[in-house]
Amino acid sequence: MSLLIVGSLAFDTIETPWGRREKIVGGSGTYCSLAASFFTQPRIVAVVGEDFPAEIMKLFESRRIDTRGVELRSGKTFHWEGRYGFDPNQRTTVKTELNVFGDFRPRIPAEFKDNDIIFLANVDPDLVEVVLGQVSRPKLTALDTINFWIQTKPEALSKALERVDVFFANDEEVKMLTREVNLIRAAKKILERGPKIVITKKGEHGALVFGRDLFFGVIAHPCEDVVDPTGAGDSFAGGFLGYLDKVQSFGANKKEIRKAAVFGSVIASFAIEDFGIDRFRRLAAAEIEERFQSFKKLVSF
Ligand code: AMP
Repeated sequence: MSLLIVGSLAFDTIETPWGRREKIVGGSGTYCSLAASFFTQPRIVAVVGEDFPAEIMKLFESRRIDTRGVELRSGKTFHWEGRYGFDPNQRTTVKTELNVFGDFRPRIPAEFKDNDIIFLANVDPDLVEVVLGQVSRPKLTALDTINFWIQTKPEALSKALERVDVFFANDEEVKMLTREVNLIRAAKKILERGPKIVITKKGEHGALVFGRDLFFGVIAHPCEDVVDPTGAGDSFAGGFLGYLDKVQSFGANKKEIRKAAVFGSVIASFAIEDFGIDRFRRLAAAEIEERFQSFKKLVSF
């Protein structure tokens, strides 16, 4: 089993109608690897500045996340600031300070050259080629993106799409990328550009999984108190890919794809119950299984 995640380790400043948190630990790589760690033992490749807390690296290690690919650079860690209104699906990016992430050139350690799955989580789309050029051919490649890259690097993103098997984005991002107002058409357009599976995340409304002969909808766990929606998408991807790595299924088995999407949704539903990664600190495997079973009941008729 081997899932390699290349993503951001970050400080996030989050504002919601219920509170504000300054510079708490977040980042696509953080959420994704913690989520995946409930299914497999992920490897992470990322960059941090001198201000990144050692305690978080210890947390990763305690969750058996392999951190040998985390580069420590002089300077500040990536910082992102986002604001949510009463609708948790509507988010405004207030600030993106790339800092050491700006000229990040991932170097894949020799021990990480062979991987079953590679996930590029919200990274600069130019890095897709840089990463895939350093490893032997994986069984599955996946990419997630965020509005910042769609706006600043649309051409690089188009090229990156040709190189990956699975593409994750939220519904707004998929529409923005394809200039299409209808989500189904937008997802089909992306399928034509390379990926075999497109997963559009719809926040509190769940996610849709599109494939050439696959269409599956997964609801989101009904949650009355969404404390902080940040990281839900990355956690979904971590759960989805972590599960596929665990069962060693790489995209051909539709039943496993559906199950992976449900586990993605389950794990994302925990991420939003507290600020930052705090819910993951106290999450137990039994809670994941319990919520998975309650999902089954919720959708059977
Ligand atoms: P999500 O809520 O799952 O879409 O992702 C939110 C996470 O993505 C936050 O923790 C941010 O630190 C991280 N993030 C935001 N913008 C970027 C970016 N341009 N590059 C990499 N990571 C980002």
